[in-house]
Amino acid sequence: MLRTTVQQIHTLTDRIRGFDLVASDGRALPPCEPGAHIKVNVTDTSGNPVKRSYSVINPGQTDRYRIAVLREVDGEGGSAFMHDKVTVGDELDIDLPQNDFPLHSDAQNTILIAGGIGITPILAMATTLTAGKKDFALHYSSRTHQDMALMHDVLDAATGRCTLYFDGGTPSRAMQLSTLLGPAKAGKHVYVCGPGGLIDAVLDAARRHRWASDNIHYERFSTPAAQLDDSAFEVHLKHSNQSFDVPVGKSILDVLIDEGIDPLYDCKKGNCGICTSAVLSCDGDLSHRDAYLSDGQKSQNDQMCICVSRMQGGGKLTLDL
Ligand SMILES: Cc1cc2nc3c(=O)[nH]c(=O)nc-3n(C[C@H](O)[C@H](O)[C@H](O)COP(=O)(O)OP(=O)(O)OC[C@H]3O[C@@H](n4cnc5c(N)ncnc54)[C@H](O)[C@@H]3O)c2cc1C
Repeated sequence: MLRTTVQQIHTLTDRIRGFDLVASDGRALPPCEPGAHIKVNVTDTSGNPVKRSYSVINPGQTDRYRIAVLREVDGEGGSAFMHDKVTVGDELDIDLPQNDFPLHSDAQNTILIAGGIGITPILAMATTLTAGKKDFALHYSSRTHQDMALMHDVLDAATGRCTLYFDGGTPSRAMQLSTLLGPAKAGKHVYVCGPGGLIDAVLDAARRHRWASDNIHYERFSTPAAQLDDSAFEVHLKHSNQSFDVPVGKSILDVLIDEGIDPLYDCKKGNCGICTSAVLSCDGDLSHRDAYLSDGQKSQNDQMCICVSRMQGGGKLTLDL
């Protein structure tokens, strides 16, 4: 845990604010790798302490962490707290930076794709690739010109390598994803962060071009959307010999937490892999929705990230828990 002080707040768009956090004791902050995030201790709408993750925009700098926060209208209040309650001079406790979205800086060619607030880790990556004189292209989409946060930082970090899109709300339609990804090639990597629809469209396009899963990287800021064919099922925990119903709209992890079980977990978004559990038996098909396991690991169906992945078709799923 690190105590920080809010040094500056910037209005980046109507719904996005930038925060500069410095160490409250005046010391240097631990340096961040591109793609890393910090967890900020905030308060939700019910007044309960919760943590919310924010990607660090300025990798390598130890005098301050720059983050940008989109105000979520339907959320539980973490982002609203950052917008409405936090003022310059306030102290915020944060967890040390963690990186579930690392950049392979030895790639020969890198394609960076961002939609909306997903620009935060992507900008950090562009800054690092430019500093290392690496070959890359950045594609950044927002609804309108006014909604585009950090546009000048992006243009500075990716001079001559950046294409901006104003998409009216559908980034995957504005970007010609199939063309901009092109055929799979060893040493070519893609990174995408933004709305779920954009991430899914990039994954689809990359897989159509037969990209290796090791060269496709993404980070979700929110839980993957429920699917129409989601169904309820039973989860059985081998070691405690307990069974619980997992209804539609609720993850295995949340069911276990609500039942007083204490499973390991962190991000709850399918990014970090900490909740990965071994699957001992499964009546239905596993629907893997995480960004952590490789395609090869997913095809084995012997482990799953219980924060986002489910079993389809009903029946019983037995976990090594
Ligand atoms: C690694 C990582 C990095 C991130 N970086 C950034 C960043 O740089 N900037 C940024 O603004 N945000 C970032 N986020 C998202 C951020 O952590 C918060 O989730 C966000 O600020 C919203 O918080 P909230 O409490 O307002 O809303 P939350 O309660 O977290 O809700 C967020 C969204 O999820 C939906 N939602 C909430 N609960 C449910 C539910 N039970 N079922 C279905 N949908 C639900 C809401 O509709 C809302 O749209 C990041 C997240 C991760 C995991």
